[in-house]
Amino acid sequence: MDVVPRAGPAREAGARPGAGAVCDTVPRVTRSPTAPKGTTRPAAPAVPGTEDDAAAAGPDLGAMIEATIAWYAETARDLPWRSPDATAWGILVSEVMLQQTPVVRVLPRWLEWMQRWPEPAALADAPTSEVLRAWDRLGYPRRALRLQECAREIVRAHGGVVPRGEERLRSLPGIGEYTAAAVTAFAHHDRAVVVDTNIRRVLARAVRGRALPDRSYSAAERALATHALPAERERSVAWNQAVMELGALVCTARTPRCAQCPLAGIGCAWVAAGRPEPEEDTRRRQSFEGTDRQMRGRIMALLREQGAAAPAMLAALDPEDPVRVERCVRSLLADGLAAVTEEAGEAAAASDDGALPGLRLP
Ligand code: SF4
Repeated sequence: MDVVPRAGPAREAGARPGAGAVCDTVPRVTRSPTAPKGTTRPAAPAVPGTEDDAAAAGPDLGAMIEATIAWYAETARDLPWRSPDATAWGILVSEVMLQQTPVVRVLPRWLEWMQRWPEPAALADAPTSEVLRAWDRLGYPRRALRLQECAREIVRAHGGVVPRGEERLRSLPGIGEYTAAAVTAFAHHDRAVVVDTNIRRVLARAVRGRALPDRSYSAAERALATHALPAERERSVAWNQAVMELGALVCTARTPRCAQCPLAGIGCAWVAAGRPEPEEDTRRRQSFEGTDRQMRGRIMALLREQGAAAPAMLAALDPEDPVRVERCVRSLLADGLAAVTEEAGEAAAASDDGALPGLRLP
């Protein structure tokens, strides 16, 4: 669910590589393997997104699609939301969970979730406290709240059936461009431009010859992803799945495994250009330790385990920094992820004298 600011969701190894990204050694291929020796490829129309990339010499897009789909057919992970039996609802839930959270952590939670709430109507009727408990440690728990709102809207407006079509999907609470496209492609098997951080990275390297995608999802990247999408429906679905998996497992952010990549031998532009370093990333990265996100996670863990937490228990989470604790308590209340315990009353919640209210799950 597109509740976290992102340039395409981070699914699996979505972090940006540092300047020292390394790559397995592979022989450079600058000639199309299909071209006879001694010939050069005829001039092709410019590929969108590569006009400003002097080094870009990427593979023939048709060959790239072919090779990626063939690789996926051999190596794709067997995941339950990819099963032919998976429902559109199950796929939507998986897409929401996989944003910001790796497969290994999502898998047990997804299985449990689908057992408890196999249809949108079941989740719509569930107590919100149970929904937040079941979300467990997947992180960014507002996604759980938005997923329940989404289920309720599917029941209210669509008879309990996940609607078809990107526009209708995007009208659901919390469903943004990425999730609508992913559900359209993977659940309804329709043509859609699916772009997550993994796909952006593969296209940036293989076609644009860059170590990294643009800082934020750019018009050039959108144009390239649209251009690369096969016209034929089934093939477009296969391409979306395959290139996403390639970015998750092979063309990873920190250590691209070019020796195992189907695009290495057909002219990956980044490899052909000598693997240029990324532009320096000047953004400052805050470590997780000591952040409000960490404190919010600790408070939510307490509420999941105990059901409620008295002010003293909350204060004990960081006696050195009561202001941070209070700030996080207030933000959880504002987000609807926690409620004030009845004993504490509304007065404590509204108090601005630094006194902490007791909290419970909503
Ligand atoms: S697309 Fe393949 S060959 Fe190119 S950088 Fe990524 S892993 Fe290496």
